[in-house]
Amino acid sequence: MKSGVSEKSGGSKTKLNVKKKQSTPIRSIFCLKNKSNLKEIEKREDCFILDFNPDDSLRKLPVSNKSNADSADISIVAETGQVACRDFPHSRDNCAKYPFNKTNHENYCRLCYCFVCDTAAPCYLWAGSSGHCHAMNNEAWKLQRKTSKMVREMMQDICKADLSKAKRMGK
Ligand SMILES: [Zn+2]
Ligand SMILES: [Zn+2]
Repeated sequence: MKSGVSEKSGGSKTKLNVKKKQSTPIRSIFCLKNKSNLKEIEKREDCFILDFNPDDSLRKLPVSNKSNADSADISIVAETGQVACRDFPHSRDNCAKYPFNKTNHENYCRLCYCFVCDTAAPCYLWAGSSGHCHAMNNEAWKLQRKTSKMVREMMQDICKADLSKAKRMGK
């Protein structure tokens, strides 16, 4: 790193500095890029720029913001100290607040979602003896899930078609 121009860096530059001494002195400002040097530089320079955020040690954990609603799996946006099944959306059978085998399946926490509908619990077919609250990751329910997804996609296509038709009619 270059030290100040005002020091004995030789020749014409020094002269220039002497002349301009009355006005603002030309001075290079040290730009500190590496935190580990901080103490040392603090002793040497009375004014320098930090090229990093000194509060950076409290850096946030990288948390993915992906909200992949129609992905079949729960994507874990892990952070130490948090329990995935309690702090992140989960299918009802994975609920940590209302254990599936010990509590009424119709119970749900605010992060439970319907395994079949892929929406937040309760869905419109949640309760009842064959309600979605009983859904778990087995073949029978997976089939229901698949069917429900197909129906959803079909409905979406119909909606889209209707919308574009309406647009054309409007013109
Ligand atoms: Zn839950
Ligand atoms: Zn459902």
